[in-house]
Amino acid sequence: MKWFGGWFLQCLLAVLGTVATCAHAQAPLLLDTSVSQQALASHTRYYHDLAGNDDLPAVRKHLEAGKFQPLPDGNTSFGFQDGAYWFQINLLNTGNPDRKWLLVQEYALSDRIDVYAIHADGRVLHKTGGDHLPFDQRNIRYRHPNFWLDLPPGETVNLLVRVQSESSMQVPLRLYSPVAFIEQSRDSQFAIGLYYGILLALFIYNLVMWLTLRDASYFWYLFHISAFGMVLFTLNGLGFEYLWPESAWLADHAVPLSICLALIGMQQFARVFLELRQRWPAGDKVALAIIGFFVLLGLAAFKLPYYLVVPIASAAVFPSICWILVETMVVLRRGYKPAWLFLLAWFLFLLGTGMFSAVAFNLLPKNFITEYGVQIGSALEMLLLSVALGYRYAALRNENERIVREARDQLEQKVELRTTELRNALGQLEEAHDRLSEFSRHDGLTDLYNRSHFREAFDRLLSDARNSNSPISLLMIDLDHFKRINDQYGHLVGDDCLRWTSNTMAVTLAPYGALLARFGGEEFIAALPGMDLAQARQVAEELRQGLHHNPCRSGELSIPISASIGVHSVDLTARNSIEFAMQVADQALYAAKAEGRDCVRTL
Ligand code: GH3
Ligand code: MG
Ligand code: MG
Repeated sequence: MKWFGGWFLQCLLAVLGTVATCAHAQAPLLLDTSVSQQALASHTRYYHDLAGNDDLPAVRKHLEAGKFQPLPDGNTSFGFQDGAYWFQINLLNTGNPDRKWLLVQEYALSDRIDVYAIHADGRVLHKTGGDHLPFDQRNIRYRHPNFWLDLPPGETVNLLVRVQSESSMQVPLRLYSPVAFIEQSRDSQFAIGLYYGILLALFIYNLVMWLTLRDASYFWYLFHISAFGMVLFTLNGLGFEYLWPESAWLADHAVPLSICLALIGMQQFARVFLELRQRWPAGDKVALAIIGFFVLLGLAAFKLPYYLVVPIASAAVFPSICWILVETMVVLRRGYKPAWLFLLAWFLFLLGTGMFSAVAFNLLPKNFITEYGVQIGSALEMLLLSVALGYRYAALRNENERIVREARDQLEQKVELRTTELRNALGQLEEAHDRLSEFSRHDGLTDLYNRSHFREAFDRLLSDARNSNSPISLLMIDLDHFKRINDQYGHLVGDDCLRWTSNTMAVTLAPYGALLARFGGEEFIAALPGMDLAQARQVAEELRQGLHHNPCRSGELSIPISASIGVHSVDLTARNSIEFAMQVADQALYAAKAEGRDCVRTL
């Protein structure tokens, strides 16, 4: 793990560093007409002053005593070291028209740099730099410490550079002619501007999205992008140049603090984006532990020395990013689609930094893409994360719409179900009501209409008769000596006889369209629409004979039945004709009874 952390730090810190190849320090570096810029590593020898106390005369003695040695494998990086490092280069201008050259320490974080140019005539020119000195002391306002050198043609200048720093000991010194420096700084500033331009655009876009949508994942994305931007801003010296040009304290602490903030932002963003608490609670606890670790480390950075905090922070970066990859893959396996873009984003980020480190270890050739791998990878990562946020938002919205649609469908189905149930219930109720009203119109024993229905129906027949001016007649029928049947055979047989005679009457009267009802007891009433008195009398006679010749059968019994019938034809012009007509028919019935029964009478 420590190696991985170191590797990551190497990647970040070496953003502006160079990797040198071979080492021959004795011969002076020749600046002929063809040279406009030159890395000094190959001609550099170094000496490690462990206590950091040696002054220039002491070091010159060490130089004469041969204590300086070539850079190990031409490497300009020594990691975190105590004391001071001295670097020595002999420079010889062999006819280059430029006398003024710019020495640039292409690593922004060194605390203090002393440059001694010892000329052939014994002159020693001393210049200082580094981020423990105010920014405006620099020869050129530039993110890397830089020093003007006077290199007269034909003169060998012995250059001694002392570097002391709490940050990593990296000394990628480079010499530029003024024109070459302008050209290279123009290109690198352009690339840097492009990178921060992308970051700024993404920041503003997602800031607007966050302000509009108030989705926490946008906030943590902004947090992540700002903190990560701050890491690079600090590492390549722009933080010191533009944000804290006077503050040596911030120059030292900005690196560990911004690394911790960036890692907190990354983890928190991943947690919210991947909805880790719901989708993978165990993984979420690990993420929270990582966040807790970086919070503590960030707080410790205020107190602990730089050389302790930065290596710990850098060592934790790689496992932390790996954990995000693990989270992403787990959530992806559990079917969360927006995690695809998320995975691709982190993959590109690791690919970019991986390419950069491969260049550092000479595994890949140095070109624009490999050299700016960290920037390209992180820019693509943040771009993709921004797209992933949009995708996630769209997925959430679709999910919401689906839920609303499903709820609406379910509601519609329920309403339809309830409506059908209601319709069925209403149907049943109507049926019951019909049955009930039918039941209420009929007589329970004989199943003929009852008296109240007869009145209603007869009322309608009467008004029809009036409208069509056609006659209508009434028959009042009473069974003769029915009491005797009851007395002789019992009430049940009497009931049978009532049913029997009802049926006989219904069958007999049916062809005449008569309205037949049980009037009460053994008394019946029939209306004969369209019939005058004579016709009605004829029908009454037919009815009487029908009953007479059709004895009631009850079990084995055959009981003779007869009826007396009063007939009346209704006077359609008279008022109160229903009551009156029934009274008259009843009187006719009495007349029939009086005249010996089993006969038909009119008044
Ligand atoms: P009349 O020839 O004068 O009409 O003699 P009647 O016996 O038929 O007349 P009355 O009014 O004296 O008696 C009617 C009898 O009809 C009395 C009663 O027991 C019988 N009755 C009335 N309703 C029912 C019934 O629903 N079932 C039975 N079994 N008998 C009934
Ligand atoms: Mg009777
Ligand atoms: Mg009677």
